[in-house]
Amino acid sequence: MRVVISGGGIAGLTTALCCLHFGHEVIVLEKSPLLGEIGAGIQVPPNAMKVFEKLGIESAFDDFAFEPIAIEGRLGVSGMRLFSIPLAETAISRWGSKYLHVHRADFISILEKALNEISPDIIRLNQEVVGYSQNKDAVSAKLLDGSEVIGDVLIGADGIHSPIRTEMLGDEKAMFTGNVAWRAVVPMERLGKQLPAPTACAWMGRGAHAVTYRLRCGKLANLVAVIERDDWVSESWTEQGTIDEALADFKGWHPIILNVICNSDAIYRWALFDRPPLRSWIDGRVAIMGDAAHPMLPFMAQGAAMAIEDAWVISERLANVKSVKEALKSYQEIRYQRATRVQAGSRANAKTFHQRTIWGRLKTYGPMWLVGKVAPSTIHARSDYLYGYDVTSI
Ligand code: FAD
Repeated sequence: MRVVISGGGIAGLTTALCCLHFGHEVIVLEKSPLLGEIGAGIQVPPNAMKVFEKLGIESAFDDFAFEPIAIEGRLGVSGMRLFSIPLAETAISRWGSKYLHVHRADFISILEKALNEISPDIIRLNQEVVGYSQNKDAVSAKLLDGSEVIGDVLIGADGIHSPIRTEMLGDEKAMFTGNVAWRAVVPMERLGKQLPAPTACAWMGRGAHAVTYRLRCGKLANLVAVIERDDWVSESWTEQGTIDEALADFKGWHPIILNVICNSDAIYRWALFDRPPLRSWIDGRVAIMGDAAHPMLPFMAQGAAMAIEDAWVISERLANVKSVKEALKSYQEIRYQRATRVQAGSRANAKTFHQRTIWGRLKTYGPMWLVGKVAPSTIHARSDYLYGYDVTSI
């Protein structure tokens, strides 16, 4: 089986590794001249790590990752701790794998290295896919330079603005959600005493929230600070902003947040887009996955994790279901409900994190604080469906 993958991000590279694991031949077509990711962190939860364990590459994360000791919720301005529940040991004992924080560039290089060790010719750079055509025997990815790459299956892992999605379902633009994320990564040694804790910490506030955590074995601090804004006019969805603008957006917030902003060399502004659930992710020999199929707000830190789960299912189905079309149908059946649930949950978290009124904050954060004090295991239990899920045993 020859699998052609459009896109060499986390979704595309993980799919390539899963396909090789199941004995398929693979080609990854990536439009950029280099593989890479922006300078920011990513949380890799246990449901995603289980796939890397099955692929035998989980130990590659040891040199780069940071393992947080707890999940915390705090108020953004006062810093009051709403809850802090253990994570490191619980992740393994309760959910079956580690919960890690990784620099995105490290993540991509782990995947690239693992692929190159199996076969150095799989990734083709400077190959922009613009569409596809298919007949009953094969599918062809059409490239910008007019050439075509033929395979048995074509996987669109080409992100939220996926041309494969457009060819499949029409040209419907992704929607701006009214949220803008500021992102910064800063060496810990620069931060003095106001350091982000060794946790995954969500700071909640009025129309905004922030997440702090550590990366690269604890040497770097990562900040994602999201603010509701309806004045976004830029067409670029990632661009560098200024420290003054970020400080203005988070005026009066806790010194730990402001300290990271002030000490960053570069701070990026990232407009957050998503889509309502699509009616279909498949068309004959073609399937979309990851952000191409179910882009979501990052408020559950699960977008890439869902792509990693997709990657396993597509590859496994192609190995174990006789016809390509039936295999892709089965992929969609297995994945649609779960990814759509997480997409909706991510949107709902915007409301929880961004409570605007005093009453709303009391109603939401009061019970959160109480549960954190008297029944912290309830918070663990609420995450069981997410982190405890093992896509490799479906
Ligand atoms: P992309 O990362 O967009 O990759 C698509 C790839 O396809 C790119 O390499 C691109 O160059 C290539 N491409 C595009 N068009 C073409 C074409 N025409 N031809 C060939 N190649 C093409 N998720 C988590 O699991 N945990 C987190 O902690 C987390 N935090 C986040 C924080 C923020 C602020 C944001 C915005 C997102 C976060 N996410 C998180 C979500 C996660 O980043 C995405 O879900 C994930 O990166 C999607 O990966 P992808 O490979 O599907 O798409």
